[in-house]
Amino acid sequence: MCQLNKSKSKEARCDKDRLKYSLAVSLTAAVITGLILFFLIGHGDSSSAHLAITAFIVMVGTAITFFILWTGRVNLLRMVTFIGMDGLIFTIALSLEHEVNRGSILLTSQALNNNSAPICPITIPFVAVPYFIEGKMIFPSPVTSLFAVLFMWLGLVLILGRGWCGWICFFGWMDQFFASLLKKPIIPLENSPKWAKLFPYAFMLFLILVSAVLLIPIFCAYMCPLRIIYDPPGVTTTFQWITALIFVTGGLIFLVIGPLLTKKRLFCSFICPLMPANSIIGVINPFKVKIDTNLCKKCGLCIKNCELFAINEESLAMGKTTIECAKCGKCMDKCPAGAIDYKLMFTDQRIRLYFIPLAIIFNLLIVSGFVWMIVQYLTTGEIGSIP
Ligand code: SF4
Ligand code: SF4
Repeated sequence: MCQLNKSKSKEARCDKDRLKYSLAVSLTAAVITGLILFFLIGHGDSSSAHLAITAFIVMVGTAITFFILWTGRVNLLRMVTFIGMDGLIFTIALSLEHEVNRGSILLTSQALNNNSAPICPITIPFVAVPYFIEGKMIFPSPVTSLFAVLFMWLGLVLILGRGWCGWICFFGWMDQFFASLLKKPIIPLENSPKWAKLFPYAFMLFLILVSAVLLIPIFCAYMCPLRIIYDPPGVTTTFQWITALIFVTGGLIFLVIGPLLTKKRLFCSFICPLMPANSIIGVINPFKVKIDTNLCKKCGLCIKNCELFAINEESLAMGKTTIECAKCGKCMDKCPAGAIDYKLMFTDQRIRLYFIPLAIIFNLLIVSGFVWMIVQYLTTGEIGSIP
């Protein structure tokens, strides 16, 4: 019994017990998650490849949901889906798609001229605005791709808020991976100065304005560090060498070395133009991460461990995270008092039991599409185009 425990470590364990669900509840939620995944992914095709993918996804979804709810620990298994499923599977699928459909992972001028460059959700703020205002598609891919990605992103952000950045984004895995490699940061960064927190909002606005005026997606063309992995530009002219240098330097600083040394997700915190949009739209999302100030021991571990600078002393005193919270659950796992949990907006109602299955279902729904692309390639040598 929790109340009878005398030692400090036992007390801490008991404090954390409040985040766990019973075996029966965890199993029920896991089975329901598996059934929903089976229904969403398994219908419409009875080929053995499709059945195998469905079985794999259902198994992963059921197991992860069960263990998160039953153990009360979120972050480690979230990272299995976020880095392992999104990151690895997405990267393999996208690289294969580039190789098969355009012959190289390099984004060629031919692909640009043919309007066949794959669009990514990060482009939404500065590509959608010129399209809606001026009717101009400034990214070299079809308008249908813009709408497909826009609706997918918007739907998920309305459902999960900035949970998109903690559970769904198939680019966010990269700084997440490097931020989680070392046990302790070599350069400890706890709080981010106010100007640094405002920078991504100003940067997003700048990109929208410049893209709307010049009708060029300048972030993708000249800045995006993600291109060192997904779409390295062909380099022949001096100007292209200079832009390539920007991609590589930015990639190393914000995606690899910076996160490794600081244990913070620097690209997602300061550079990604989608982050401010996710945070602002996420304000109306019903799933919130809240701190019970009566239980809090004021140890500061949550502030220290948050990889996205989403708790500070002021927000902690008010029992909440900032709007940049990606609902990753790391602070919950680190808190010795078990004081942090997913709660329903405006209430103290715990909603971990609903948030976790939802996040896992949406993550795996997207992953299943990329698994399908890889299986298609292995079985036919062909691969369907992605939006
Ligand atoms: S406040 Fe907690 S849940 Fe939110 S991003 Fe930081 S560690 Fe993750
Ligand atoms: S980790 Fe944060 S919420 Fe938990 S006791 Fe320490 S200061 Fe309070």
